Amino acid sequence: MRGTRKAAGVALTLAAALTLAACGGGGEEEPAAGGDTAAEEGGEGGAGGEGLTIGIKFDQPGLGLKEGDEYTGFDVDVAKYVAEKLGYSEDQIEFTEAVSAQRETLLENGSVDMIFATYSITDDRKERVAFAGPYFVAGQDLLVRADDEDIQGPEDLEGKILCSVSGSTSAQRVKDEYAAGTQLQEYQGYSECVESLAAGTVDAVTTDDIILAGLAAQPQYEGQLKVVGNPFSEERYGVGLPQENDQCEDINAAIQEMIDDGTWEELIAKNAGENYTPDPDLNPPTEFEACA
Ligand code: GLU
Repeated sequence: MRGTRKAAGVALTLAAALTLAACGGGGEEEPAAGGDTAAEEGGEGGAGGEGLTIGIKFDQPGLGLKEGDEYTGFDVDVAKYVAEKLGYSEDQIEFTEAVSAQRETLLENGSVDMIFATYSITDDRKERVAFAGPYFVAGQDLLVRADDEDIQGPEDLEGKILCSVSGSTSAQRVKDEYAAGTQLQEYQGYSECVESLAAGTVDAVTTDDIILAGLAAQPQYEGQLKVVGNPFSEERYGVGLPQENDQCEDINAAIQEMIDDGTWEELIAKNAGENYTPDPDLNPPTEFEACA
């Protein structure tokens, strides 16, 4: 199904270039490793003809994780559920990596059909892509070393070294609202940030609480790290789509069904881990994006 959208992709790329030129800077738009070539090679397999190429995270345990040929996590399971409702069997799905800074580009240039990758719905992103959902609402938080009593929230970051990911709302919010006196290091993925935190070269990692909880729960960090537990944003996870799409309504209907039939609850229980509880005032989501 990617072929049908190539022309739209070219038009959108031009629009994106104009947006970038208007914004200046543009440092976040550099191509990242992984992702597009794999998507171009495959995705057309499957018994029913055309397949579906879905962008996910590869390094976020409990959300999107690649281990060998296995893909696990809440985003992956939601993607499979939605794909099935759209008429795709599991063997028609090709998962490809969508790092935070690359998501809009992958949708614009047709490398992926949709993205399930802890992808917050924002007005800025809607200039370039469309969203269905949300299917989950997280909150930005901080991860610190277990013995750290100084950092209780974003206002305690003065003089600290903070790590986050390029192209994320997490890094952007810190720059917009809290950066004064904080040294922000930006990597391509949160797993790299957490390695630096455990090694002592950064003081805190910031992104969504559910992502931090999944990373901290890995056996190699047992007893070493803790999520502060003081969320300071609402991150509504949407299904990223190209602006030209005819699936937004069907995806919203599939998400509603997933919530109504109890699958959403099951998938959270299976993936979120015992140290994380979704905010019950915001989950499961009750209001979806209006599709264009
Ligand atoms: N949900 C935030 C975002 O979409 C942070 C997590 C991420 O980078 O995937 O930017």
